[in-house]
Amino acid sequence: MDMNFTPPWPEQELSPDSLFGCLIRTAVDGIMVIDEQGLIQVYNAACVRLFQYAEAEVLGQNVKMLMPPPYRDQHDDYLTHYKQTGEARIIGIGREVSGQRKDGSSFPMYLSVGDGILYGKRVFVGIVHDLSALYQEREAYEAHLLNLREELVHVARVSELGQVSAGIAHELNQPLTAMLNYANAARRLAASGSDEDIEKVQSVIGKVAQQAERAGQIVRRMRDFLEKRASQRGCNDIVDIIDDAMALGLLGAKASNIQTHFEPEDGLPAVLVDRVQIQQVLVNLLRNAVEAMERSEQRHLTLSAKRQSEDRVEVTVADTGHGIAETITSQLFKPFVTTKDHGMGIGLAISKTIVEAHGGVLTAEPNPGGGTIFRFTVPADATASP
Ligand code: ADP
Repeated sequence: MDMNFTPPWPEQELSPDSLFGCLIRTAVDGIMVIDEQGLIQVYNAACVRLFQYAEAEVLGQNVKMLMPPPYRDQHDDYLTHYKQTGEARIIGIGREVSGQRKDGSSFPMYLSVGDGILYGKRVFVGIVHDLSALYQEREAYEAHLLNLREELVHVARVSELGQVSAGIAHELNQPLTAMLNYANAARRLAASGSDEDIEKVQSVIGKVAQQAERAGQIVRRMRDFLEKRASQRGCNDIVDIIDDAMALGLLGAKASNIQTHFEPEDGLPAVLVDRVQIQQVLVNLLRNAVEAMERSEQRHLTLSAKRQSEDRVEVTVADTGHGIAETITSQLFKPFVTTKDHGMGIGLAISKTIVEAHGGVLTAEPNPGGGTIFRFTVPADATASP
């Protein structure tokens, strides 16, 4: 304690059986009184619990010792400024600030400060309410929300792939059938036993391996797509992401006579995204485009990727389908808005959340020749090439 510290009021003022003594001793919130210079005059038991300093360690000391930097260094100037101008940041108002304990750790607190006169001297009375528990609850709640959001994104992804399951079965059947044919051919050739045929067997087995690789790739893409995982951003090649999304989203589309074009601009920078989530947006847009063209005469699906600005890449997916139904244009990106018999109406809502979480925008507009163009942007890392 500052040995020169003498409170400017009679000692009995704070005696245990006085009203004021009882109030500050029993208060659950911290109560402090500081003088015009910011020196602590009163520091109650709740403050001892909150800040870990004993009363004797703080009385007569500048209150800034209870604040973490940078506030600690600004407090004297702040007090002077307030006294000169009456302009208040906390005084008379109160707000959430940080306190610093004796061990150096900080904690959130609600501080309200009143401005008064005590025994002819100006004082400031601070009431400190500990917000740590509330913050912990808030953090837990936010983590819970984030978790729910990730669950929802994942469920939507599973549902998206569920819609192409027939296509997946078809796509896997092709290499499997080819492998079976090659294996039969190899068996026949091997049975003949001639040297020439053994060479052919080797080449046929090579083809079996190629087909197995192709089937494996389909399964790998599906597994990556379906895996439940926390969101993770990294440097990615947008062309790769679009290629993979096309391989998944357009499974079975060949059968519906859709002509696809994808012409990325040359020299695109790497994009800073969660690869699977952006794939999810694309798979959703591709599935919608394919469905919108089911009854169209012209079935053109055109994708593009171009640099929109120094730090943004824009991706478009354009179809020549029936266009957005007028009844839903204003609600297009709202959840549960669908015109399909078996639609869930969450694909676009989730895609929009994903794109916005990446700091981008997702929009739809009519395709001049009929159909719809969806556009979205993703952040680029101008310094990295993919
Ligand atoms: P769902 O596909 O389950 O209906 P979405 O959120 O993906 O859910 O799409 C919502 C609605 O938006 C669709 O039902 C459809 O009416 C409309 N829509 C989406 N994409 C297109 C498109 N490319 N062309 C026309 N309408 C579309």
